[in-house]
Amino acid sequence: MNETGKCSLCGGLYVHWGHNPQPLKDLEERCCDRCNHEKVIPARMNLPEGGLGSWEEARKQNEMARRILGQPQVTDGQSRN
Ligand SMILES: [Zn+2]
Repeated sequence: MNETGKCSLCGGLYVHWGHNPQPLKDLEERCCDRCNHEKVIPARMNLPEGGLGSWEEARKQNEMARRILGQPQVTDGQSRN
């Protein structure tokens, strides 16, 4: 299960399931990890774009955690429950 698609915010590719881009886009669309972190989540929290810090930093932390936990994929909270 390795779904990829086009991010509706930046036009880049997302892998796996992507993210729900609401409130910036319709629920039917998907966005990439970077846009989720830099745009979508801040928009939900009423922060300016990039209000959570850079995606590069977040990704490093994700990958470190993933290595420690031995998980194959960064979990994003948007995957199917
Ligand atoms: Zn994107």
